[in-house]
Amino acid sequence: MEYETVIGLEVHTQLKTKSKIFCGCSTTFGAPPNSHTCPVCLGMPGVLPVLNREVVTCAIKLGLATRCTVNRSSRWARKNYFYPDLPKAYQISQYEAPICEHGYVEADLESGETRRIGLTRIHMEEDAGKNVHGAADDDHSYVDLNRAGVPLLEIVSEPDIRSSEEATAYLKRLRSIVRYLGISDGNMEEGSFRCDANVSIRPMGSDTFGTRAEVKNLNSFRHVAHAIDYEARRQARLLAQGKEVVQETRLWNTAEGKTYSMRSKEEAHDYRYFPDPDLVPLEISEQWIEAVRATLPELPADKEQRFVVEYGLPPQDAATLVASHHLADYFETVAGAVKEAKRAANWVLGELLAVLNKLGISVEESPVEAAALAALIRLIEEETISGKIAKSVFEKMVATGKAPAAIVEEEGLVQVADPEALRPIIQQVFDDNPTQLAQYQAGKTKLMGFFVGQTMRATGGKANPALVNKLLREMLPEPTAPADGG
Ligand SMILES: [Zn+2]
Repeated sequence: MEYETVIGLEVHTQLKTKSKIFCGCSTTFGAPPNSHTCPVCLGMPGVLPVLNREVVTCAIKLGLATRCTVNRSSRWARKNYFYPDLPKAYQISQYEAPICEHGYVEADLESGETRRIGLTRIHMEEDAGKNVHGAADDDHSYVDLNRAGVPLLEIVSEPDIRSSEEATAYLKRLRSIVRYLGISDGNMEEGSFRCDANVSIRPMGSDTFGTRAEVKNLNSFRHVAHAIDYEARRQARLLAQGKEVVQETRLWNTAEGKTYSMRSKEEAHDYRYFPDPDLVPLEISEQWIEAVRATLPELPADKEQRFVVEYGLPPQDAATLVASHHLADYFETVAGAVKEAKRAANWVLGELLAVLNKLGISVEESPVEAAALAALIRLIEEETISGKIAKSVFEKMVATGKAPAAIVEEEGLVQVADPEALRPIIQQVFDDNPTQLAQYQAGKTKLMGFFVGQTMRATGGKANPALVNKLLREMLPEPTAPADGG
């Protein structure tokens, strides 16, 4: 039996507001435990939450950016459960009336195809605190409530995702969007962008959903993909054995590359949601929504389109460049200062990204600034240096931070583009390789490449390749036998 995998994702993204969602405590990460707390976020009796307006603005931003309906009226709900990191024994969230609904995110696949993934809802809520378990010689557990009350947006997708590749593409695009909007740093490893995956399978062609398992604890794109693939295989194996898939919550174990049952449906929490009596329903004016709309930056999908049209880039190149708006800005600075945008894209996507990956740094920390890379590309365009020499100049720019012109000058790398200088060198190549010359004359015209290579080598890579080709065609003997290419 052939199965289709059906995936829905729930993402929690932590907002970058200065203060918490219902009190004035700082959200800064890494402070001493419990130093960013007050009676409100400690859950003391008798206190009242006061909504942080900026959180609502962030939610409106994301709602507009993902083509959601921003509801003019939404409601706060209490999600009740008992856990040491939740002193109130309830989390303030939104349930029946979320702030945003019915949007979508468009994700680019490797194949160049675009998939539209529907969003069921986006709602606002507060984060819980953190339990910290003592090291080996310490049998205590501790509770740090600095994170309690930090604002989150939960983004719930429709079950529109069909593979781990689509899931990854969706998450990457969603993360780009929150970063473009400046509402979250989207850092998965630090827990500010967390994902739970609902995975089920069904016979190919069926339109009813299978029983799903929810996989929690996914903190990297790779883990999300591996967990989805593992679940699809596990569920198919169960069905093949005539068994049933159980609806349950499962945990991803990175070390073993497996999911484990955490709790079954029977043990599932009943959160007893009800409207929070401490907070009035949230009413948002049309003016507020329009004011937020006016501040939206150009978003990844629009930027990608523009890069294709304005710079004539292949969609795949454009998609990679817009994944980070810093990288997109870097590219535009380079492209604006050189003749050919495509060449700028090749350098940014090739040499620059290779160096950044090798050093494990982001483009904001690049050792070569956009203006310096543009200066290097102009040296190629002006035929001062060859593309090949430029690559070694780039390496030296990374290592020394020097300007490309200075490196070219110091190392005598200026391209040899003078026919009178190149002719004697080519003659020398002929004299040194009489066998190949005779073979060429006998019809083995493929040896042209050999002579180009030898000439480039004899000039230390500095000869202008186009001129070398031209001169070789002039200077090589006419083949006597029919060119058989062999
Ligand atoms: Zn507080």
